[in-house]
Amino acid sequence: MNDVWKFHSAGSILFGHGSITQLPNVIQKFEANQIVIITDPGITRAGILDQAIQVLKKADIKPVIYDQAVPEPTMSSVLSCFSHLQPYQPDLLVALGGGSCIDLAKITSLLLTYGGHPSDYYGENKVPGKVRPVIAIPTTAGTGSEVSPVAVVTDDKSNLKVGISDHHLRPEVALLDPGLTLKLPAFITACTGIDALSQAIEAYFAKDYRYLHGQENLIYQGSNPTSDLFAEKAIRLIAPNLPIAVHQGDNLEARSNMLLGNLYSALAFTNSGTSLIHALAYPIAEKTKKAHGEIIGVLLPYVMEYNAAVCPEKFARIAEFLGEPSELPQQEKTVRSVEAVFRLLKVLGLPTKLSEIGIKNEQIGEIVESALSIERLVRINPRTPNVKDTAALLAKAL
Ligand code: NAD
Repeated sequence: MNDVWKFHSAGSILFGHGSITQLPNVIQKFEANQIVIITDPGITRAGILDQAIQVLKKADIKPVIYDQAVPEPTMSSVLSCFSHLQPYQPDLLVALGGGSCIDLAKITSLLLTYGGHPSDYYGENKVPGKVRPVIAIPTTAGTGSEVSPVAVVTDDKSNLKVGISDHHLRPEVALLDPGLTLKLPAFITACTGIDALSQAIEAYFAKDYRYLHGQENLIYQGSNPTSDLFAEKAIRLIAPNLPIAVHQGDNLEARSNMLLGNLYSALAFTNSGTSLIHALAYPIAEKTKKAHGEIIGVLLPYVMEYNAAVCPEKFARIAEFLGEPSELPQQEKTVRSVEAVFRLLKVLGLPTKLSEIGIKNEQIGEIVESALSIERLVRINPRTPNVKDTAALLAKAL
């Protein structure tokens, strides 16, 4: 029984340059009466919405367009999308954009199917059953929302980001076309890409699923043999391709490898879970309002160093995945895994210190308290963090 593990994904995954032209085929399989595309003004400006509309026009498919999604969905943006679309009663939702559009489509689908308020579904396993199908077409390579069971919204009362996590929220189809990511600005590429790398590293060093035995209903089960496979491949793809995608945005090969690496990262972490890095990132985001990936990037090497003490063999392998020589002694490789991440952050032009993103020493206590209270993340961390250690870790990162 200790060896039983499970693995979840989106219903199906379609990947490849030009795969957007397959959208009509994908849509027709659902035999939907009313289709809606949920997107945002940045996607419209980049010409991506028009590209999708032209493809659908050829197949005589005329969707309703909702193009007012906002980055990092707020509660009011979710409610206004829902009230705009409710009269149309769409039975198929196409999310075209980054994690924000995909998450908005997931929550809108949930509300269209079961009614209520988003807060009714906060937490894990609160969705009663299947929701109206979502086809997710990501235009960033970073969140993994296209295969994930999560939708994130900023709660209007607490002003904190909250997640709705349920396997029913995994999209029916993830359609990934690297051509759609070519115009993603360099800074967003860097931030989303380092987040994807962190998610893969966190998935790989996550507690082993056997430690979570007896908690089979939890969405995040710790690492398992399949999540490890995807995490390894994700790290191997993202580490060399991210600097190229940032500095040569129109390099299709690098963009393609990033989108694939991000997909693999998501297949890994949406089963195993993320941990202390993401737990610390939430209170820091509340204080700094900095981009999620920027915060994750700063935390990544310090939390790696902290965790390496309890599973050095995993970090020696991570060093190899990051391109370090395999013949070095384990201890040397463990150290190099952290150094490789620092080097990558520098090449990407991302900060490596918390002070660079505006965190002050006197804020550390509050951040630690808030982060350690996020039990669903902290429980996956291989080293059980206490207040003293976590404060010391942050002081080092300052
Ligand atoms: P985003 O969707 O917020 O987009 C950021 C900006 O980039 C937008 O202005 C958008 O118009 C623009 N953009 C996106 N793709 C573009 C392209 N190809 N060309 C030009 N401009 C483009 O960015 P994101 O980082 O993908 O998503 C962030 C959101 O995802 C956050 O709300 C975060 O909490 C959430 N998230 C969700 C999950 C999940 O599993 N559901 C996981 C991680 C993060």
